[in-house]
Amino acid sequence: MDSSLIGKIEKAKRYAQERDRISFVDFTLRFQGEHDSYILSYKDRQWQCQCNFFVHRGICSHTMALQRILAEMLPKEAFGARYGEEAGATAPRS
Ligand SMILES: [Zn+2]
Repeated sequence: MDSSLIGKIEKAKRYAQERDRISFVDFTLRFQGEHDSYILSYKDRQWQCQCNFFVHRGICSHTMALQRILAEMLPKEAFGARYGEEAGATAPRS
């Protein structure tokens, strides 16, 4: 392995520990819930989930779980006022 690649690997290891460097702009994923799986997305500063609860409330256990998993890798807009109150999730510090 050449030395420049070794340097990149070392940098990658450090970056992987510094997650606040990463901020998702948009993404789509499949979330396996207890009863069904749902397509969930975050795009144009809006969450979307196929589950019934989200359709009525604009928030659900799936989006709240993603906030906890991705935490500092989500932009602050992904933690609206309603999320802060209902989910107990904390927006990353600026
Ligand atoms: Zn959902």
